[in-house]
Amino acid sequence: LCESLSGTGLWRQSAYIGGEWIDGDAQLDVDNPATGAIIGSVPHLGAAEAERAVRYAQSALDAWKGRTAKERGAILRRWAQLMHEHADALATIMTAEQGKPLAEATGEVAYAAAFLEWFAEEARRVMGEMITPHQPDRRLLVFRQAVGVVAAITPWNFPLAMITRKAGPALAAGCTFVVKPSELTPFSALALAALAEEAGVPPGVFNVVTGDAAAIGDVLTTSEMVNKFTFTGSTAVGKMLAAKCAGTVKRVSLELGGNAPFIVFADADLEEAVKGALASKFRNSGQTCVCANRFLVEGPMVEPFAAALGEAVAALNVGDGFADGTNQGPLINAAAAQRVHRHVAEAMNGGAVRHTGGTAHDAGERFYTPTVLSGVSPDALLWREETFGPLAAITRFSDEAEAIELANRSRAGLAAYVYTRDASRQWRMMEQLEYGMVGVNTGLISTEVAPFGGIKESGLGREGSHLGMDDYLNVKLGCLAV
Ligand code: ADP
Repeated sequence: LCESLSGTGLWRQSAYIGGEWIDGDAQLDVDNPATGAIIGSVPHLGAAEAERAVRYAQSALDAWKGRTAKERGAILRRWAQLMHEHADALATIMTAEQGKPLAEATGEVAYAAAFLEWFAEEARRVMGEMITPHQPDRRLLVFRQAVGVVAAITPWNFPLAMITRKAGPALAAGCTFVVKPSELTPFSALALAALAEEAGVPPGVFNVVTGDAAAIGDVLTTSEMVNKFTFTGSTAVGKMLAAKCAGTVKRVSLELGGNAPFIVFADADLEEAVKGALASKFRNSGQTCVCANRFLVEGPMVEPFAAALGEAVAALNVGDGFADGTNQGPLINAAAAQRVHRHVAEAMNGGAVRHTGGTAHDAGERFYTPTVLSGVSPDALLWREETFGPLAAITRFSDEAEAIELANRSRAGLAAYVYTRDASRQWRMMEQLEYGMVGVNTGLISTEVAPFGGIKESGLGREGSHLGMDDYLNVKLGCLAV
């Protein structure tokens, strides 16, 4: 890997703090999920280095927010441009540490860069307001100003995009940024830092601290210098970190787990529904928070849908993400594959029928054979826990009211999908599903131009779109007596 990346300047095994590349006494090894081979290591840093990063971010703040929005936008655009120029190297690093097929990794590089581009454009569209006053001798002004130092903790499933969609709006708004990437995928974050440096992001404005999650997380959630905390990851960790932020009343954004229903009505276009199911469920081997987790299919459609999906899923190509033709890589670790199997076994004990898969895969302990089950009961374990793996589990429903009730039977509220040709029903479903995002006749809903985020226990705040800037801006009233 080092050899294939040499000369790109993107293979970094040091943390990036205050514009310096930092090594540590202890190291944290990172492996390739497809092979288990160690690909490199990063410094195992802790509270002291996290505090240093926050101090650097604090001292870089005034100069950064003092630049014009146009200048900040130009730097973000250059950063995005460099990501495009180095797309092959970034994708190689990502597949090596995360496992996703190279084509998907290349897709993520473009998706991640798109957030920098979008917010480079949005930087200049931050508008204040003047409100018609309540008294003739008053003037009411609304300012929208950068929240200050932003701290982020990000997951391994999208090692680049989950950082850029936070750093993009933060830097565009005039905030400075400290991120602790997942210990499983730090190299993508460090490559991004190398490109930030090259793009002219000033020292201290973008910092990457690798190492001890709990120790670094403590500083990022409790430091008085951090004004905002933004997290993408599991619901349990997100709740715990949000609670810590309460002590200093930080602004908090959370993108947590989903439990997406994928509803197929009998009037749906079967071929489109299967295509959407593959895209929604099996992208990143099922390891996205918007992945369909519960398939709800109307009675007469169950047999044809299960058969067609089973056939399509059986044809998926499981293997090393670097191998030609692979479209299902490994899961992130062996525990993830075991969880999928637990969900399969439990559902089958409850009477589910297997259409394809349902077994470990001979490629290794982190692989699982893509699986389709039908006849799954709403009492099944996978209805309560996100599977986060390649399992499509079909439950039957008999009418629209039941579909809505079953779909909303979850504390999660991130994404939902509906397939129906009935135009009135499309509207009713969009309005009644208790989710932050509803895909109608599509399994792909994520784009930098649209608001991404959940309701209920799936999160707070929105990322992407013109709304994504709000999370990084404070509203200030100026009340002027004239
Ligand atoms: P998942 O691994 O399922 O994506 P996690 O919530 O475990 O979800 O991980 C998301 C991010 O949260 C990672 O960067 C991880 O290091 C971090 N994290 C996990 N536990 C803690 C913790 N106790 N304190 C701070 N960060 C944590």
